Amino acid sequence: MTVTTVMMMVRDLLLPRGCTGCDSPDQVLCRSCRDLFAHTVTRPAPGTLEGTGYSCAWYRGEARRAILSWKDHGDEECDPPFAALLADLAVRSGAVSGNDPVHLVPAPSSRASMIRRGRWHMRDLTALMAVALADLGYETDMLPVLRTGHVATKSVQTTNAAQRAARITGNVHVTDPARCAGRRMILVDDIITTGATMRQCAAALEQAGANVATTLTLASVPK
Ligand SMILES: [Zn+2]
Repeated sequence: MTVTTVMMMVRDLLLPRGCTGCDSPDQVLCRSCRDLFAHTVTRPAPGTLEGTGYSCAWYRGEARRAILSWKDHGDEECDPPFAALLADLAVRSGAVSGNDPVHLVPAPSSRASMIRRGRWHMRDLTALMAVALADLGYETDMLPVLRTGHVATKSVQTTNAAQRAARITGNVHVTDPARCAGRRMILVDDIITTGATMRQCAAALEQAGANVATTLTLASVPK
């Protein structure tokens, strides 16, 4: 344990925490920062059934700051409020409905970033989001079937198919295709920039036979 870590622990004991977006005292995410995530930002989501994806906020100002400190500075206390905000987005965008069971699929993180962060932050967040939606009466669960990294090909016969798949899906692949076929899914990520990652994720799920309804993200980077 470094001196800095000890000092940060002492500080956390002595001082109450501030809002992760704006530092206003005694709150994880204050009301006004939370309101920044109450939008329904839409953008094209090629490769999904709806063709449109949704975000809670624009990626700027306090919203950006809140996401960065949650994601890259280990502010795990933000998991529950962010999960609740994504669950609200899922309902108001119509991405979840009373009739269709839906699987929430967290966007994959690279091995390096999981090691750096000490966790797969989107899996944790999406798990809480599924619980929040289940509490509201929706049939949802979290299905962490996407990974990044190269796919090992087993035989010469599969190589061409695997190469074709790799061109479409980049380095995203499905770990458990048997759990995907015929299932309705929603992709969940923190930030959407160009949408390229989401396209690869949707293509990988599609190849495994899933129906990707739409994408939900905390924030969308303005063009
Ligand atoms: Zn705030």
